Amino acid sequence: MTDKATRHLLDIDSLDSDTVQSLLNRAGALAAGSAPSHLDMTVANLFFEPSTRTRVSFELAAQRLGMRVINIELDRSSSTKGESLTDTAATLAAMGVDCIVLRHPETGRCHKLASEVPAGLSLLNAGDGRGHHPSQALLDAATIAALGMSWSALDLSIVGDIRHSRVARSGLQLFRRLGIGRLRAAGPPDMMPDDMDLAGVEVCTTLDEALEDANAVMMLRIQRERMDKTGWPDSKHYHQEWGLTEARLASAAPGCRVLHPGPINRGVEIAADVADGPRSLILKQVRMGVFMRMAILEWLAGRHQAN
Ligand code: ASP
Repeated sequence: MTDKATRHLLDIDSLDSDTVQSLLNRAGALAAGSAPSHLDMTVANLFFEPSTRTRVSFELAAQRLGMRVINIELDRSSSTKGESLTDTAATLAAMGVDCIVLRHPETGRCHKLASEVPAGLSLLNAGDGRGHHPSQALLDAATIAALGMSWSALDLSIVGDIRHSRVARSGLQLFRRLGIGRLRAAGPPDMMPDDMDLAGVEVCTTLDEALEDANAVMMLRIQRERMDKTGWPDSKHYHQEWGLTEARLASAAPGCRVLHPGPINRGVEIAADVADGPRSLILKQVRMGVFMRMAILEWLAGRHQAN
C-alpha cells in the first residue's frame, strides 16, 4: 500500500472532481485494452447482503490486478459467534489484508467502520443499506462516457424506487457533479425520497413525464427488502404505471439508452424486450463494472492519479 493517508471509497461526495475524472478515464482505458497495474495487495470481500455483480466483479478486478482475494463466508466466520465488524476488520488487518470490500444492510455502516479501522486498511463501500453505492455510480457514468456523449448532452431520468436506492443516491450525486444537461427523478409518491438532496434534479410524477425527450433512462428495482410493507406494491399494477416498455419509450429521444444496475425484475420495472433490446446498456454496465473496480483498486493503492 501507499504510505500516504489511507484511502477509502465511501461515497461519491467525498471524492474530488479530479479523482472522479481520473477513475472514469482509467476505467475507459482499461476497457479499451490498457495494461493493468500489478498490485501486491490482499483484498477481502465481506458481504452481509446478497450480491452477484458487485461481488464477482470486485473479485475479478482484484484477480486481474494480481491481488490476493479472500472471500469471507459469513455463515462460517466468527461473526456467527458474536464478533463485531470492527473486531473482524482489525483481525483481517493484522493478517495483512490491505482492503475490505464491504456490503452491509445498515445505512452508514461503512462510514462508521472507516472511523474505527486501523491505518493502512482501506474500505470500499459496496453498498450500505439505503446509503451509498459509489462504485455502481462510477461504472454507470463510465458506461455512458464510453458512448462518446458529452455530459452536457446527457438528459438522464432515474426512475422507480428512488427512496430505498443507494444506486440513485450515488448516481444523483455523481451525475450532478459531472454537470449533465438535464437530470430527472421519478417514482410513485411512496418511493420518492425524503432524505436525499434533489437540488438541480427535476422531480416528475409520471413515467411519461420522466421519459419525454430523455436520451438515457435508468430503471430501478423495487427494494422490497428495505420496505416494511410486504406484498406492496403489486408487481402487475406497478408494471402498468411504472414499467418501461417499448411503447412507452416512444416518447423518449430516438435511440434513448436504457440502464439498470441489476438485478432486473422482468415484467415489473422493465419489460423483457426492453432489457434485451438494442437500446439496453445493462450488460455493458456489468462489463464496465469490472474495469471500474480495477480502476478503483489501483486508485486505492495510489496508482493512476488524476491525469
Ligand atoms: N445491485 C444494486 C444494489 O445493490 C441495485 C439493486 O439491488 O437493486 O443496490
